[in-house]
Amino acid sequence: MKSVHDLIIVGAGPAGSAAAREASRLGLDTLILEKEAFPRYKACGGALSDRAVSTLGFPLPEDLCERTITGARVHFRDRVMEKHKGYRLTTLVTRSSFDQFLLQMAVQSGAELAAKNVLDYQEKDGCVSVKTEDCTYQSRFLVIASGCQDSLKKKVQGFEPMRTTGICMVAEIEEDDELIAKRLNNSLDVYFGVADMGYGWIFPHRGYYSVGIGGLASGLKHPRIVMQDFLKSNGFPAGVKLRGHLIPQGGNDRVTAKGRVLLAGDAAGFVDAFTGEGIYYALRSGQLAARAIGEGPASEVADLYRMKCKNDFGEELWYALLLSKMMHSYPNVFLRILACQEEILDRYIEIAASKRTYKDFVRWLVPRLPMSLLRAI
Ligand SMILES: Cc1cc2nc3c(=O)[nH]c(=O)nc-3n(C[C@H](O)[C@H](O)[C@H](O)COP(=O)(O)OP(=O)(O)OC[C@H]3O[C@@H](n4cnc5c(N)ncnc54)[C@H](O)[C@@H]3O)c2cc1C
Repeated sequence: MKSVHDLIIVGAGPAGSAAAREASRLGLDTLILEKEAFPRYKACGGALSDRAVSTLGFPLPEDLCERTITGARVHFRDRVMEKHKGYRLTTLVTRSSFDQFLLQMAVQSGAELAAKNVLDYQEKDGCVSVKTEDCTYQSRFLVIASGCQDSLKKKVQGFEPMRTTGICMVAEIEEDDELIAKRLNNSLDVYFGVADMGYGWIFPHRGYYSVGIGGLASGLKHPRIVMQDFLKSNGFPAGVKLRGHLIPQGGNDRVTAKGRVLLAGDAAGFVDAFTGEGIYYALRSGQLAARAIGEGPASEVADLYRMKCKNDFGEELWYALLLSKMMHSYPNVFLRILACQEEILDRYIEIAASKRTYKDFVRWLVPRLPMSLLRAI
């Protein structure tokens, strides 16, 4: 065991592994502490946007790519609309395998891995002491990439209000691959208005569907009941294993770095408040955390990291939050515009494929809103 590491990372999800790989490539002596034995289960739809794939910096092995998605099917009340593109929008992966692969890439780049549950940390005299059940590690910097549910981030961020936290229920339901292909036609199947201001999804994987519902924790009081209704109304059997998970939602003004401690991925709250996409932001923020630490000086790392995140994806998260607030304020009108007008859905799904930014989309949409509103009423 080294006496003082350059960097300790808590959590080996996409944020932690991306940070570890980047830091090792920059020559930083990096230790990852992960409490679960990999491959571990992670509640997730497994939709990996094209911008997430391009951020990886290496090709995604073919056996991890379970489905190539070219379209979206959107349901709102009794309306269904489907749009396809002639190119890939998203790749479907199973998180246990995907995360294990990312971790392997980090270790191959030189990062060290230890199976430890981090209980606490203390920053003192230019060093961070990281406490686990049986030992204490020392490091110049700490990246907390331990997801949305771990409490370590609170030391940086403080209390997380319910109105900025989302809750999801998810189930993996086995099915024959041909039947999956026939039912979903290489589309992501999205159901708006399922829960109170939330949505449901059916995503095609290899040999199973990912089925879930999600919404703001303050509005989704009985997620298990909503999920059971959603499963029933879509012809899925009762009694499948349901898993709940929190997701950051609806607030971009969280504190993301303090002194020598940086938060990345879900721990920082970097999730698209409109769609729940978080893998891309986890990968990107992990990389940026490593770069900020590599560039130093130590006293400026926290500011440097915040600035990098703001410049890189701050605007996208801001526009995603704006759309999400519009949806929550005027759900009926907003969803009739987005989910019932082909031209608008067609533009919107280009965001996932990195062909368009949220800002482009909103700027394109605003002058068309009066006509769209008339059509929606
Ligand atoms: C139901 C659901 C569906 C989703 N679907 C999608 C989707 O389709 N596409 C998408 O892009 N995003 C999706 N997301 C969001 C996405 O899953 C997250 O944004 C992403 O996993 C964040 O990665 P992360 O590395 O920050 O955290 P995580 O993936 O949560 O990884 C955190 C890691 O830290 C470890 N850890 C936690 N505490 C400690 C500790 N104290 N000590 C040591 N290790 C610790 C955990 O074991 C875990 O391995 C979904 C989220 C949910 C809940």
